[in-house]
This record gives sequence, C-alpha cells and structure tokens, in this order.
Amino acid sequence: MTRVVLASRNAHKIEEMARILDDAGLHVEVVGIDAFDGVDGVSVPEVAETEATFEGNALLKARAVCAATGVAAVADDSGLCVDALNGMPGILSARWSGGGGDVANLELVLAQLGDTPDDRLGAQFRCAVALVLPDGREATVHGEMRGRLVRAPRGTNGFGYDPIFVPHGENRTSAELTSEEKDAISHRGNALRALVPVLRDLLPPTD
Ligand code: IMP
Repeated sequence: MTRVVLASRNAHKIEEMARILDDAGLHVEVVGIDAFDGVDGVSVPEVAETEATFEGNALLKARAVCAATGVAAVADDSGLCVDALNGMPGILSARWSGGGGDVANLELVLAQLGDTPDDRLGAQFRCAVALVLPDGREATVHGEMRGRLVRAPRGTNGFGYDPIFVPHGENRTSAELTSEEKDAISHRGNALRALVPVLRDLLPPTD
C-alpha cells in the first residue's frame, strides 16, 4: 500500500486523515512523522512557519518532511480569519497574544473587536493542505468553515478559538460539537476531502 506521511505528531490529525481517505475508498497508509523520526538515522526537522500565507507555510512543512523521509508528504496550516479584523489573526492565530496560549489568544481577539456590532462578527477558519512528492511534484488544496464569533466562550471540546466560533447553520460553538460533528464540516476536513482526488491522480497506483 502507498504510504503518505502527515507532517504532524498529533494522533487525532493522523486518524482523521486516515478516516477521510478510507471513506473515499483510497487505499493509502497514513503515518505521522514519529514513524520516521529517529528511525534509520532519519531526523525530521522542526520547520519555522515563515511564509505569509497558509499555503506557503503548508508547502514549507511538506517539502521539509518529504526531503527528510523520502516519502510523499502532506502538511496543513490553518487559522481563524475575522472579517472585522481584516482577516486577522490569520496565519498568526497560534501566537496572536505573543505566546499566551489559547485562552489569551481568544480574549485578545474579543478585546480587539471592541464594540463591533454583533451582526458584524463574521469569521472563518481557513486551512491549506500541501502535498509534496519525492519526484518534486507539488499540489495545494484549501478548505474553510464559515461562521460567526460570540463574545462569551462556550464548550470544552476542540481547541484554540473553538469556544467563541459558531459554525454557519449551528447554534452551538465548535467547542460544543463532538469531534465527528466538527470534522464533517471543518476547514481541515474540507481541505482533506479536497485532497482525495489529487492523491488519486498523483500517487502511484496500488493493488
Ligand atoms: P495549526 O495550523 O493546526 O497549527 O493551527 C494554527 C492555530 O489556528 C491554532 O493554534 C489555533 O489557534 C487556530 N486554529 C486552527 N484550527 C482551529 C480549529 O479547528 N479550532 C480552533 N482553533 C483553530
């Protein structure tokens, strides 16, 4: 079976990608970087996210992991883009409060919204996924989840900005959804589902 390495050490992300490819009938084995790091002298580098776009950062990570492992590599980069903040925090989502963590990040976003009216709290999560093959071919796909922000955080599932984000068509925040409910509509889920036909085209056929 063709192997694809996901540039992540997060077991949930690896399982999520494996499930989405499996549901699409694509017979690909998904492994994380821990399957390579420290094995047979392979060292997978930590990659600084120095590009100005989600796509650029995803490509940086996928290129580094493909070069280190010699295997087709997939990497993602994502964040929250708030309409009233001109798309910020965007690629700076993880470090918006300067290293204060998830709660400090979302509190800073709420403070920056000031007295913006509730009907102008539209936002979206965006995700870019990059695929880099050992022969140098590259592809990127995107996914988004549109919604609105609420000023009082709710829910304990998920991470990051989930407690203040209500997906379109929902009354619950994404921190009040189960992980299956969130995966079915999320920016990362949508990007990974968009990756399926690309993998089908670019990966060598398997039996
Ligand atoms: P990463 O691309 O997984 O590193 O995510 C970057 C940052 O964007 C995270 O640290 C969160 O602050 C935010 N983010 C990305 N996806 C989500 C999500 O699904 N829920 C909440 N926050 C997210």
